[in-house]
Amino acid sequence: MVMNLSDRVAIYIRLSKEDDNFGESESIQNQRLLLTKYVQEQGFSLVDIYIDDGYTGTNFDRPAFKRMLKDIELGKINVVVTKDLSRLSRDYIGTGEYVEKWFPAHGVRYIALTDAIDTAIDSANNDIAPFKAILNDMYAKDLSKKIRTALKTMQMEGKWVGGCPPLGYEVDSNDKNHLVINERESEIVKRIFDLFINGNKINQIKNILNNERVPTFYMMRNRENGKRNIYGCWSSTTIKKILQNRLYTGDMVQNRRSRVSYKYRKIICNPREQWIIKENTHEAIINRKTFIKVQELLPKQRQKSDKKDIFLLDGLLKCADCGNNIGIKARRANGKATTVCNYYRQHRSDETLCTSHGFDYDTIEKGVLETIKRELLMLNFDEVMDKVNTNYDMNDNIKKLEREITDIKINIDNMYIDKISNKISEEMYDRIYVKLSSDILNKERKIDSIKKKNKCDIEILNNYKLDRKALLKLVKYIAIHHDGNIDVHFNFKKLNII
Ligand SMILES: [Zn+2]
Repeated sequence: MVMNLSDRVAIYIRLSKEDDNFGESESIQNQRLLLTKYVQEQGFSLVDIYIDDGYTGTNFDRPAFKRMLKDIELGKINVVVTKDLSRLSRDYIGTGEYVEKWFPAHGVRYIALTDAIDTAIDSANNDIAPFKAILNDMYAKDLSKKIRTALKTMQMEGKWVGGCPPLGYEVDSNDKNHLVINERESEIVKRIFDLFINGNKINQIKNILNNERVPTFYMMRNRENGKRNIYGCWSSTTIKKILQNRLYTGDMVQNRRSRVSYKYRKIICNPREQWIIKENTHEAIINRKTFIKVQELLPKQRQKSDKKDIFLLDGLLKCADCGNNIGIKARRANGKATTVCNYYRQHRSDETLCTSHGFDYDTIEKGVLETIKRELLMLNFDEVMDKVNTNYDMNDNIKKLEREITDIKINIDNMYIDKISNKISEEMYDRIYVKLSSDILNKERKIDSIKKKNKCDIEILNNYKLDRKALLKLVKYIAIHHDGNIDVHFNFKKLNII
C-alpha cells in the first residue's frame, strides 16, 4: 500500500454513559481498532487519535474534540474519521454545522465509516447525513428523558441530586445523596433568620452583613477552591432566597428549577406545583416554627411573574401580502395570542396598505407544525428512513443474506435436475430439499428482523417534537396570507432532492 502523505488523518473517538446500552460495539477499544485498521488500509497517515471518554454527544464541550479543532486550524489535519455520525455528535444542528460548513471551510474531508459518509465522495449517503443526524438527536432526547425520570425517582425518595448544596449545607462524604450541616456556613444562615425575626427588613440585613464583611456564599465556596481574592456583596435577592428556602427546616425540596432542554445549560424556575418535597431528610438549621413565621412576615410576592411568553414561531412569520414581518401579540387573560402584520399595525389609519392578518397564534403554530411533518413524511420517506437507519453493516448483512438465499435456490434447482437425471435418489433429494428450505426460511426471518429494527424509528419520528432550534434550522420563514393560508418556506434544499 502506498503511503499517501497528503492525507493527514485524525481519528476521533467518543464514548459516554448514554452509549452503555449499545454494548461493546461502541467501546473505545472497538472504535480504535476499527478506525486504525481502516486508516491503515487506506494508506492514510495517522496524525493523532482524539478520545473523549465519558462525554455526551449532545454538545461539543469536549476536550479532545476541541484539541482536534485546534490541530485542524493549525493545518496538522485534513481528514477526520469517526465510526459513525453519532460519535461526532448527537446534536443534529451542530453536526450539520461541522460536516457541512466548518470542515469544508477548513479543507477537511470527513468520513463516518459505518454510515458510509465521506464528504470527498459525492454519494447519496452524504445527502442523508442530515437525517441521520436528526435521528441521533432523537435518541439523545429520548435518552435524556429516561435520565430525567431516574433523577426524579431519586428526588422523590428525598435523595439530594443537585450539584452544589445551598449555604449551610455540604454533601455527606459518606453518601453523596445526603446533606450534612456545614457549621461555619450554618451560623450565617441562622443569623439571617434571627435578624429577620427581630424585625429587620431584608435591605437592612443586607447592609448589616455587608458592613460586617460577612463572606458571601460564592466567596466561601470559591475560597475553598483556592481563589482567595474573590470579592462579593450580599444582595437582597440572595437573602430573600435563603429566608424562603424550606431546605433549612430539614425537608428536601428539589426540582425547583430545570433545564430548558437536554441540549442547553439554560435553567428555568419551575412552578411550585412541580417541586418535589420530602420531609425530614437531613438535619435542620432552622426549626419549622421559625420558618413558617418568617414566611408569614416576608413581603408577599406579586403574582405577576416576569415570565414572558415564548412563541415557537417568533421571528419566522412574514406577511404574504406586504412582505413585512408578522408580530405576535402577548397572550391575554384568556390565554389567546394573536398575530398581526407589523406594517398594518404601524399604519392602521391607511387601511389600503395591508390588512390585520390577525389570527389565533396557536392555530397557526399547529398548522405550521403539521405542514412540516407532512412535508417530512412526503419525501419518499420509507426510502429515506431506510438509508438513514441502515448503516453500512446492516445493508451489507441484508445483501449478504439475500445473496445466500439466491445461491441456495440455485442449488435446489440444480438438485432437481440431478434428481430428474437420476444422479441423486428421490429420498436424498427430499432430505436436502427440506434442509435447504429451512435455511432459506431462517435467512428470510433474519432479514425481516433487521428491517423491523428500522421500522421503530419511523414511530420515533412521528412523535418527534420540533423545538425552536430545529425549527430555525428547517424553516426559512412562514408566510401568512390575509385569508389565513400558510406557506412554509424550507431551508433544506436536500429535502426535495432525496
Ligand atoms: Zn402585511
